[in-house]
Amino acid sequence: MNNNAMEKLKNFMGDRLLTEIDERVSYGYDGSFGQYLPDCVVQVLSTEEVQQTVCIANEYEIPLYARGASTSLSGGPLPVHGGIVLDFSQWHSKLEIYPEDLIIKASPGVITGDIHKLAESYNLMYPPDPSSSSICTIGGNLAENAGGPRGVKYGVTKDYVIGLEIVTADGKVLKTGGNTVKNVTGYDLTKLIIGSEGTLAIITEATLRLIPKPLDTRTAMIIFDDLYTAGQSISKILTSGVRPSKMEILDRNAINKVVDYAGLDLPREAAAILLVEVDGDPDVLSKELDIVQEALKKIGVDDIQIASDKEEEARLWQVRKLVSPAIVTSGYTKISEDATVPLSKIPDMFRKIDEIKRKYNLNIVVFGHAGDGNLHPTINTNMRDSDEVGRVEDAVEEIFKYAIELGGTLSGEHGIGTMKKAFLANEISDDGVLFQKAIKKALDPKNILNPGKIFPEPGEKRLVLQND
Ligand SMILES: Cc1cc2nc3c(=O)[nH]c(=O)nc-3n(C[C@H](O)[C@H](O)[C@H](O)COP(=O)(O)OP(=O)(O)OC[C@H]3O[C@@H](n4cnc5c(N)ncnc54)[C@H](O)[C@@H]3O)c2cc1C
Repeated sequence: MNNNAMEKLKNFMGDRLLTEIDERVSYGYDGSFGQYLPDCVVQVLSTEEVQQTVCIANEYEIPLYARGASTSLSGGPLPVHGGIVLDFSQWHSKLEIYPEDLIIKASPGVITGDIHKLAESYNLMYPPDPSSSSICTIGGNLAENAGGPRGVKYGVTKDYVIGLEIVTADGKVLKTGGNTVKNVTGYDLTKLIIGSEGTLAIITEATLRLIPKPLDTRTAMIIFDDLYTAGQSISKILTSGVRPSKMEILDRNAINKVVDYAGLDLPREAAAILLVEVDGDPDVLSKELDIVQEALKKIGVDDIQIASDKEEEARLWQVRKLVSPAIVTSGYTKISEDATVPLSKIPDMFRKIDEIKRKYNLNIVVFGHAGDGNLHPTINTNMRDSDEVGRVEDAVEEIFKYAIELGGTLSGEHGIGTMKKAFLANEISDDGVLFQKAIKKALDPKNILNPGKIFPEPGEKRLVLQND
């Protein structure tokens, strides 16, 4: 990296400019895979520091990679072209609640779980709840438009952001939106920046919308002998007149991983488990679960277990919570996908994944946010086995293509990053890619913000997990 640029960064960042190799190596990873080496890392603590860093990157045309907690599963924060990593994880100084306005203001490095805790202490709720919420940052959630189990009833991150402070690629500080839920002044830049994966602007503050915390929750667990009926049940429940607050599914492989990992008492031979939560007034919740049960009876499903108290409810949710740790500890690299399909196509997607698993002889576990059609086919693979890695690449490509064929999407919540960019045009068409690139070019003409993400490089037509 240019010496003058490094010198300028040192002048105002002091000790919070990291240049040693061991420090830089640890900023080369995220929750996906791949390893890259940035030239330096700046641990920013204020909008001014972000602004000064962006101005230097802009002047010397240095790639700039924003990074929250690096839990991205799509390669979002990876410094694929070296340059500067803008580390937000230390900047969590601002977390302010305005209960009478039903808003929270947060700096980008605030952990999402801390936002939940603060809101709940006022009997309020910030609904977006990625399963990584105990470690991920709000900045990362905004950049990825993160979802989570509560998406089925409450939507995703973008539905709860009413204002942002951003630093543009040429170093200007702008406010988008404001403190009101209604705001139609000019283009909706807040929504444009959310989900843009750090490629259009850097987020330095967010104003988040809160809602009243539901009074209570009840949970049911349903066990299925076949995947088709599991898929059918999802539509049946969602059209029964009840709106679940969570609806999560695990396939047989996922069930068995959890049993192996934590010894839970679950039927290993079951085809799938569906967990359904309803929330709201406690007097209504039992009635809602009755309606769900009635709807399922009509398609012959009656193996339904309803948690009788909070302890049992927590035990049921343990089943879902343990899937990720169970997959991680079962060895090798975890490749997590999040192909999302229309609800009626969930059984087809499950069937296809099963077929792909057998065709390529791979270890694929499927779980996810069933109520959104957002499945997480997750593959454990040995990255040193090039034959297996080749089969994984083919399998992932087939999963993506089939999701799109079914009218679904490459990504429901993890973003495109490096992992899915080769397939972008399959979903949004070549013209769609050009249109999006025109926005990128207008807002970041020197391509300094998270270069190498979302858009395929020339000739990049397939997923490559392993370089020679
Ligand atoms: C176990 C596990 C469970 C998960 N469950 C879910 C889930 O349920 N739902 C879900 O949606 N995701 C989930 N994820 C994925 C991940 O947690 C989310 O994508 C999360 O939003 C990333 O936040 P982060 O702070 O780790 O950001 P990072 O991974 O550090 O960065 C993510 C992206 O945000 C950009 N970025 C970060 N900060 C800023 C900023 N201030 N300004 C501009 N751009 C910025 C980065 O450049 C990058 O493109 C899960 C991940 C794991 C490991």
